[in-house]
Parts: sequence; structure tokens; C-alpha cells
Amino acid sequence: MSNQVETVVRGPEAYALARNVIVEMEKSGVWPTPLNFELWLHYLGDPEGPLGLAIQKLLAEATPISDETSEMLAAQFLPRGRLSEEIRDAGAVLDRELSSVAEAITKAHKTQLDYGQTLAGASETLEAADQVTVLKDIVGDLSTATRRVRRETAILEKRLANSNQEVARLREHLDQVRRDAMTDALTNLANRKAFDEQLAAVCAVESKTPLCLAVLDIDHFKRFNDTWGHQTGDQVLRYVSTVLSRICVGRRFAARFGGEEFAIIFPGESSGAVMSALESIRQEVSSRGLRRRSTNDDLGAVTISAGFAERQAGESAASLLERADAALYASKRGGRNKVSSAPPLKDAA
Ligand code: GH3
Ligand code: MG
Ligand code: MG
Repeated sequence: MSNQVETVVRGPEAYALARNVIVEMEKSGVWPTPLNFELWLHYLGDPEGPLGLAIQKLLAEATPISDETSEMLAAQFLPRGRLSEEIRDAGAVLDRELSSVAEAITKAHKTQLDYGQTLAGASETLEAADQVTVLKDIVGDLSTATRRVRRETAILEKRLANSNQEVARLREHLDQVRRDAMTDALTNLANRKAFDEQLAAVCAVESKTPLCLAVLDIDHFKRFNDTWGHQTGDQVLRYVSTVLSRICVGRRFAARFGGEEFAIIFPGESSGAVMSALESIRQEVSSRGLRRRSTNDDLGAVTISAGFAERQAGESAASLLERADAALYASKRGGRNKVSSAPPLKDAA
């Protein structure tokens, strides 16, 4: 993220730049979604920066800027900046908290040392003393020192309690940032990054129980978008995601894998159980007549194709994914609106 742009959007040129962003987006036929606005703001604020050059190249090639392309651009050029800013801010707060706690501890420690010295002095004087006035002075000194220690301890306790609260708040915020970084904003499913991590994690554990991986893809979705528009297409993506979420309970893990593709990891389930889960997703999607929310237009039904593979002993995540993908394409070639399973590895080779 360019600091220069960050400064410009809070300066005198801010509104001119924002207006120009809208004009340029319209000229290039780009939808003014919040993400596109952010991308174009950075592009026009810094046209020769890496994002600017990437957008100029896409425009020169007349590549349509789909949501998928925008997300790809954002993933490459924006989120790291956003995330590192969040982390930098959290780091600064933590740093402040730790410094002030350290300071309070040093102060309390010094008071304890002084108290120790006062006690030692008092016991020496006590040994020598035989007069009531001297004893009174000693008791007076000791109670002053005790009050001071009590006061410092109370301050330290309060400081630690505040700090605990602040650190808990920070941890919650960082958890949220981490969840956001792993979630697809359109569908709320896990995103590709989360999927890759999950698949690597389940494949890293050699297990005697089966593990299946499915890949699902909406059929003729380009045609759907061309007919009904991208925004209605987005509603379909959300709808399909809700069906997936409902069926993916327990250890099943569903993700938006890319544009109009989804993936599901089925740990510990047999091929038969996976086939029937995918069949129920397929049937539910294909049997539901869709309507456009804004106009109530009848959109018909969409269908999905799916393919899945069962992991063989020692098989890598990449190979499993490749076989699931090959099974998906078998479903596409076989006429779509189908579920296919991949043949075992030795037969597939
Ligand atoms: P097939 O049955 O072979 O899968 O055909 P298809 O048209 O679905 O596949 P193709 O790969 O040709 O096109 C995928 C389409 O998905 C094109 C793209 O516009 C659309 N798409 C990808 N991401 C999004 C998105 O986030 N929102 C919307 N509305 N459409 C998207
Ligand atoms: Mg498709
Ligand atoms: Mg596809």
C-alpha cells in the first residue's frame, strides 16, 4: 500500500481523486464495488506503482475486470499492506502496555527494596533502643513505609488488571484479523489460503481412516453471468455456499476454492458417504428455482458438477487435488450436473 496514496486521501486533493476514480472506473467498464474502488484509488494515486502497472496491463489487454480478477489483484497488492498495518498497530499497543507494566514493576520493586532497608534499619535500632520515644519513631517509620508499599502494590495490581484487559482485547482483534484473512468476503466460506492450509494439515497426518477431497464447480456460470449480470451471479455464489455450509457439518471443511469453484475436505468418511453428501448438494442446488432478489425475475435453476478422490496411502495433497479435479472434469465431459469419483491412484496413472 502506498503511503503517498494514504496521505492524498486525507488531503486537499482527496475528493478530486475520488471523483476521478469513479470516472475512470466507468470509462474502463469496471463495477464500482468497494474493492474495485480501493484498487482504482491506489492505481490512480500511484499509476506507476506495481498495482498501477498491473491494472494498466490488464486494461491494455482488454481483460474484463471480474470480481475474481479484482480479488486476485487485491490479494497480490493490497491485503498484505492491510494486514501488516493491523499487526504493526497491535504491536505498538502491546509495546506500550509492556513498557508501562515494566515501569510499574520497577517502581514497586524499588519500594520493596526501600521497605526492606527500613525494616533492617528498624531492627538494628531496636536492638540498641531502650526508650519509648525511639520505639515510637521506629513504629512511625515502619507504618509510613508499609503504607507506601501498600499503595505501590495497589497501583501495580490495577496496572496489571488494565493491561490484562488490553492484551485480551488485542488478542481478540488479532484473532478477528486472522479469521478475516482466512475467509472469503463474498460467501463467508473459508478462502483458498485457509483451504490450502487445512488440506496440508490433514495430509500431514498419516492416518488409517479415509480422507476424501471434493471439487465442485457451477455449470455454465459464464453464461449465467452474461444473461443475468455479475451481481445476480454473486447471489448464486452465496446461495450455493449456504447449501455447502449446511451439509458440511462436523469435521467436513468447505471452502471457496476460486471464482465459481468450491472444495470440500471429508476427513474420516468413506467414498460412499462422500458420494451421497455430494449427491444431496447437487440435487438440492439443481432442484431449487432461483429468483432475482431485486426484481423477482425467474432465473431458473443452476447446476453444479463435482468430482472427488479418496486419498491413497502416502499421497500428497497436490496429487489428491489433481485427481479430484480430473474427476470434476469427467463430470463436465459427461454432461454436467453430475458427481464422479476418481479411480484409485494405480489405475489412474
Ligand atoms: P463450466 O460449466 O465448464 O464450468 O462453464 P463455466 O461458464 O462455468 O466456466 P468458465 O470457467 O468458462 O467461467 C467461469 C465463470 O465464472 C466466468 C466468471 O465470470 C464467473 N465468475 C468467477 N468468479 C465470479 C464471481 O466472483 N462472481 C460472479 N458473478 N461470477 C464469477
Ligand atoms: Mg463453471
Ligand atoms: Mg470453473
